[in-house]
Formats: sequence, C-alpha cells, structure tokens
Amino acid sequence: MQEELQSQLDKTPIVKQAKNIIFFLGDGTSISTLTAARLAKGHLTGNHEHEVMAYEKFPYSTLIKTYSSDKVVTDSAASATAYLNGVKANQATIGVDANEAGKSTGIVTVTRVTHASPAGTFAHTAERHWENDDDVNDDDYDSEKCDDIAEQLVLGDTGSKIKVILGGGRQKFTPKGVVDPEGGDGGKRDDGKNLIETWLNHKQELGNATYTWNRDQFLTVDTANTDYLLGLFDWGHMGWAIDKEPSNPTLQEMAKAAIEILQRDDNGYFLFVEGGNIDLAHHKNEYRSAIEEALEFEKAISYAASVTDPEETLIIVTADHSQPLVINGYQERGADVLDLGDYSNVDGMPFTALLYTQGPGYRGEVNGERPDPSLEDYTNPHYAGAAAVPLTSSNHAGEDVILYARGPHSHLFTGIHENAFIPHALRYASCTGHGLQFCTQQEQP
Ligand SMILES: [Zn+2]
Repeated sequence: MQEELQSQLDKTPIVKQAKNIIFFLGDGTSISTLTAARLAKGHLTGNHEHEVMAYEKFPYSTLIKTYSSDKVVTDSAASATAYLNGVKANQATIGVDANEAGKSTGIVTVTRVTHASPAGTFAHTAERHWENDDDVNDDDYDSEKCDDIAEQLVLGDTGSKIKVILGGGRQKFTPKGVVDPEGGDGGKRDDGKNLIETWLNHKQELGNATYTWNRDQFLTVDTANTDYLLGLFDWGHMGWAIDKEPSNPTLQEMAKAAIEILQRDDNGYFLFVEGGNIDLAHHKNEYRSAIEEALEFEKAISYAASVTDPEETLIIVTADHSQPLVINGYQERGADVLDLGDYSNVDGMPFTALLYTQGPGYRGEVNGERPDPSLEDYTNPHYAGAAAVPLTSSNHAGEDVILYARGPHSHLFTGIHENAFIPHALRYASCTGHGLQFCTQQEQP
C-alpha cells in the first residue's frame, strides 16, 4: 500500500501535444463487466482479487455519463455520436478532424465494420440500420439520395481516407448473387456494387493496398509495406471469442496490424478499436462469452500500451453504455466469478455469481419454484445467466461507465464528465478540429 501511495505521489501530467490517439471502446462494458473480467483473469493467473488489468495501470480515470438526448439509457448510435462528435447531433467527428489534421486513421472491431460504433467515426446517417443500400430501400427511402454506411466507408469524404479497416460484415459490401467465401448467404446489396473491389481499385492507385478475409492470409500481410488494409473476416459480425473461429484473427492481432501500419505516418494517427461483441454477448445474457470478449479486449489494450510511448500516444479505454450485469452473493475469496455464487436463504438453492436484471435469461418459475442453476449446464460457454425480467434481448443499463487514460493530457480525464466531453478533450490534446487546442493555447502570451 506504501508503494501504491508512492506511485500516486509520483504522478505527473504529461503536458504535450498527443501525436497519436488510440480510442478503445468496450461496447456495453459496464464497470461490473470490468470487475468480473479482472476476477476471471485473476482466477486463471492465480492472482485472484490482486490481478491488475492493463488499463488499471493507466494514471487517470473518470466516470462518464451516458444518457442520450431523449433517453436516460442510450443506444450505441446515440452514444457514438456523443463520444466521437462531441454533440448530441451529427457534426464533424474526431475521425474527420484527425483526417483534416493530416493524421492517418484506422478502425478495428469484431462487429460488422458498418455497425453503430465504428460507423460513428466516419458515417453521417439518419438511421443506424442503413448499413447497405438494401437496408435503405427496405425503409422506403431512396438509396440514391441517402448513401448507406458501407458506401460512405468506401466512397465518402471521411470513410475513403481511413487507411486500416478491420472487422466483419462482408454482406454489406457485395451485391446479391455474389457468393461469400465462407459459404452461407452471399452479398446483400441491391445496387450491384462490389464495394470491396471498388475499395481495392481506389486504394491501389494511392499505394500498396491489401484486402484479406481470413486469419491465415491476414497474418502474412507485410505491414511494413502496406499503406491500406481492408480485412473483412466474416459475413456478419465476427465469431465469439469463446468459440475461437479459425478464420477470425483476435482483436489483439488486428490492433497490432493497425498500429504497425498507422505508426509509419510522421503526422501521427487516430485509431478506434472496439470490443464490439461484449455488448452483443450481454444482450443474450451470456456472461461467460461476454467476459471472454472483455479479456480479449484487455489483451489488445495491453499490447497497444506496450508498443506505444506514453509521451506521444494518448490511449483512452471506455464504454458507450452499461449492461445489466450484477456480481452477486458472498463468494469466498479466490472463488471463480463465473461459477455458482451463493445460496438463497429463502429457497435454499444456489444462484450464479453473475446475474442479469433483465434479458432472455429470464426463466420464470417451474412448479412454483425458481429453477436450480446447479441442475443446468452452467459451465457451457453460451449459458444464459438468469435475469429478473424477461426481454428477448437485454436493454442497455443507465449507470455511469468508467474511462481510463494514459499519455499526453490524460489528466483531463478525472472526476465525472459527459460522454460528449471526450472528443473535446481529444481534440485539445491532439490539436485537431474546432474549439480549444493545446497548441494554440501555448502560443498565447
Ligand atoms: Zn447494445
């Protein structure tokens, strides 16, 4: 504890321009998710409650308020607008600002790259579900007038400047009739455009460009000689980390390739890395799967922290909103948080340490009794934890999330802030976009 005190006393803000920014977003990553992930990792390493996650070593942290303009509990699209744009309506995003400042940009996710959070870095759209033109037409809007998100990523002012795009979602980029390389349903586009080919053709005019769709190919990419990289590793969202799909690289492998390519820009870079499946697993109340995704997210952060210099790279780690996961019961120290937690003193039956307040894990009563989880397959990777209220998919939860920060101006992130504050601080630190900037503040007498 004396050591901990000393490190607090030694903490000094880094008052410099941030050359690079890496924005790690854990979708739906509540504080309870982070705590459970720490306990789960500690159970594996033997450090138990003393385990320290990579982001916990960052010197500064703040609580973040996530409510949206019309709801106390936000969806991912509204929160992306806030934490990337700095307002509750569409304006220039931090991705746009980085481009305009001559920095390289990249997005990495395990969801479809056109999904709400990554799309927030480049797309302007009235509707988060308009990921391809068919989605627009289905809603009786004109896809000629309203460019879908995939088209904006390949042809839009901001999207077309993104150098590294890694994630899932091939269906949104290829026309109907095009067979997917992994089988199953093919392309979904009505307009006949093959946006993967378009991307490759455009980028090959500008430099060395590579498209890849599976892990084996991806791991052979020579990042030292690649200027543009598009990796679409799944037809839809990428597979669950807990299922270890062979064609899917890990989040850490994708973050590594992105950093290696982007760091060659002397002007610096802005990289957005999303642990997108944490939220999707929570929506199904599958806590083992959600925690596995959170552990993969932490590995990517650990890697990024190890290969970047805190004197020039600002790293932030946060969530767009919470999920209704709760850590329950009085488990003994050293117990497995993914296991049964404690016993009810009413019905005498055990309950799992991780439970949800709402979602598809609701079971109701069987013969007037709560189902006994010890009689269920609760070690199954896709086991749905019990929920108090039935919903086909969990609703997001509304309490504050946490943000961890390391690097130049990370000391701006202390206390409690609106989610829309985040890009204002990032712009200030990196001297990009509108509003106050560290660099111009320095020029004043
Ligand atoms: Zn969600």
